[in-house]
This record gives sequence, structure tokens and C-alpha cells, in this order.
Amino acid sequence: MYKRLLIVGFLIILALSLSAKPRIVILATGGTIAGSASGAAQASYQPGVLSIQQIIASVPDIEQLAELKGIQVCNISSQNMEERIWLELFKTIDNLFTHDLCDGVVITHGTDTMEETAYFLNLTVRHTKPIVITGAMRPATSLSADGPFNLYNAVALASSPEAQNRGVMVVMNDYILSADDVTKTNTVNPNAFSCPNYGPLGIMRDGLPIFFRESPFRHTASSEFNITNIVSLPKTEIIYSYAFASDVAINAIVDSGADGIVVAGVGHGNYNRAISKGLEKAFARGIMVVRSSRIAAGGVDQAAEEYDTRWPVSYNKNPQKARILLMLALTKSKDSKEIQRIFKEY
Ligand code: GLU
Repeated sequence: MYKRLLIVGFLIILALSLSAKPRIVILATGGTIAGSASGAAQASYQPGVLSIQQIIASVPDIEQLAELKGIQVCNISSQNMEERIWLELFKTIDNLFTHDLCDGVVITHGTDTMEETAYFLNLTVRHTKPIVITGAMRPATSLSADGPFNLYNAVALASSPEAQNRGVMVVMNDYILSADDVTKTNTVNPNAFSCPNYGPLGIMRDGLPIFFRESPFRHTASSEFNITNIVSLPKTEIIYSYAFASDVAINAIVDSGADGIVVAGVGHGNYNRAISKGLEKAFARGIMVVRSSRIAAGGVDQAAEEYDTRWPVSYNKNPQKARILLMLALTKSKDSKEIQRIFKEY
């Protein structure tokens, strides 16, 4: 009798666990996915208008994928992203995963700084559960809004057991893109994102992921960056290099009290004499300098003749990602060799 009860109990638990849908939390931050225009074919619109509840309601069949809970973190255009919101996103996700309150997280986000939020969380949330970021290039009121399908795919991906421990992923236009390489490469087209160095991680098809590759870099659960008790991050800036650049911007950055500077160099991370002089000043004041490039692919390594080998290089992290990695690296060390080690591993 006791044995039979045990078997029935086991079967009930098995049935429940098989039928239970994954619990996915959607953290909404605004952007075009929440945007509204006065006409269905109009190019101009206002981002960050619709609530997460309105967005979820606009996606047919999404509730069949997962047990959804929407949280409105903010409703902004992502060019106005703030450090405070990054820290809030980190804390919220860390808390959800630590206490097993959900199985995956989706973030809706403006596309302008989506790659930066993705990389920040990729380096700081030390868990294996899926984190997927999505958005839209066309507002929700558009004739062929891309947001609903992007959100559907993002929830489907976050619900998939195959999405575990792959780092933070961006899902846009059916592509699954890794936070360490994804960048916005078109200002207006719905196919706006790519991974210029490594290509996409995979694609979404029929609500399921098909993965082609894994990220070769440390991320999420294997990250060494513990920001649990951090209330403000080191200040890092980017200096852009171009033909006959003056010393105005570099001097202003050096005098601003920055902790680190990333050079968005020309070509293989190069810069002219005016910037070089400013960087010398930075070095003398103990400001860490990392060389990156304004070129989309190929990266910057130590194998060139034209620069100062004292500065660590960013490899294939673009300047905006290098700035975030430098910010976090400086929470651990101010030694250029150690900073270089970090840039190699992340
Ligand atoms: N500039 C806005 C933002 O990044 C709208 C662009 C978008 O979401 O595509 O939030």
C-alpha cells in the first residue's frame, strides 16, 4: 500500500513538473518596442510609451510559452540609460535567480545602448539561468512592427533548457547574438544587429533555438566580477580618434577625474600626436588607458609597431564594450598586466 502511494505521488510530481511552464520574468525598460507613432507607416515616433502589460497583450500565443510576469523597471529611450538602472537590473536579476523565483529573464530595451546593457549584465550576473534582451526597430503601432515577434522569440529562448549558461543573449530579427560581440550595425533597418567578429550564436525557428556556436569568453556564472556591494562604478570614458583630432576632448577627459580611458583608435587602435600627448598626461596621473578601435571587426592586439606597449589592448571588444570591461576591471586592479589578462579572458 505504502509503496503504491509512493509511486502515485512520484507520478503526480512528474506530471506536474512536465506540464509546468517555465517561469519567465520580463523586465521592461522602454525603447522602440514600447514606442508609438501617430500613423502606421510613419518614421518618427515616441519611444517608451507602452507599458509592459500592453506589450505582452500584443503578442499572440506568448502566454502558451511560459508563465509570464512583467515588471516595469523604467520607460526610457536607451540613450538615456543610467548607471543606477544597470545596478538595479543587476540586483533584480541576481535576486530572482538566487532565490529561484524564476527560470529565465527577458529584458525589453531600446536598441541604441542594448549591446552595452547586455555586456554589463554578461559580466556581472553570476548565474547560469538564461538572460535574453530584445527590442524593436519599428514602434508597436507600425504596419509591420518587429517588437511582438522579437519578444515572442526572446521568451521562447529564455524558456529553453538549451539557453542555460550561454551568457547574456540579444534576440533581434530571429538571430541569437552574444553579448560579448553583438553591436548595432544599422540605424533604421529591422535587421540592425550583428556579431562582426564571430557571427551569431544561432537563430530562432518555430519558437526553438538552433545554436551554431558557443561564446569563447568568460561570462555570467564564470565571471570574477562581484558587484553585489558596489554602489557606484569607476568612471571610464572614450576618446574618439580621427584625422587631425585636436587635444580638446582628451584634455577634458584627463582633467575630469576619469579612472580609465578607452581609445576608439583609427585602424588597429592608432591615434595622433595630440591624443598621444593627452594619454601621456593620463598615464602620469595613474589613469588606465586601453586601446580599442573604431573599426567594426578585427580588433586590436599587441602586434603593431605604432603605439605604446604600456597600454593594454581591447582585442575585439569595441570601444563601448571595452569601456564597460575597463570599468569592471578597475574594481579589481589598477595593474596594466592584470587589466590585459582580463581583456584576454572576457
Ligand atoms: N533611441 C531609442 C532607444 O534606444 C529608440 C531606438 C530603439 O529602441 O530602436 O531607446
